Amino acid sequence: MMSAERKLELTAAVEEGPYYKTGSPERNNIVDPGTPGIKLVLEGRVLDRNGQPIPHAWLDFWHADATGTYDNKGYHLRGHQYADKDGRYRLETIRPKDYLFRATHVHAKVRANENSAILTTQLFFPGDKKNATDPLFEKLTVMDVRDTKDGQKATFDFVVETN
Ligand code: FE
Repeated sequence: MMSAERKLELTAAVEEGPYYKTGSPERNNIVDPGTPGIKLVLEGRVLDRNGQPIPHAWLDFWHADATGTYDNKGYHLRGHQYADKDGRYRLETIRPKDYLFRATHVHAKVRANENSAILTTQLFFPGDKKNATDPLFEKLTVMDVRDTKDGQKATFDFVVETN
């Protein structure tokens, strides 16, 4: 039984960084056809602190390409989406590359609804060498990542405020 003392921790925030752009297109697949890189599928749920799924939560993702470069002119490797009625989301993308001092990461913003606070964070990859030295690395937002036939599958559940 879920009691008041057993609330989930909110997902840890990590700074937005310099490359966020508002107005990303709504889509689950953020890769232009023919883009080089390891295929990455990221899936999970958006939950409230009681562990209940948040239907139709908003998620906005952006990340570097396979050379460690952001598209700051357009919206390649950027996109927002809404979780389904069970709070589930699925992002189809490629694995980003680390850049400068940064460990490999995927940026995310998540919001339960129009009136709730926006969580801004970064998701990290287990085993990345730079996890040990990146001052922004957050062990609480390391994804579960497995190899698949044609790439990698990552999972991460977000826990956000609903008011
Ligand atoms: Fe970044």
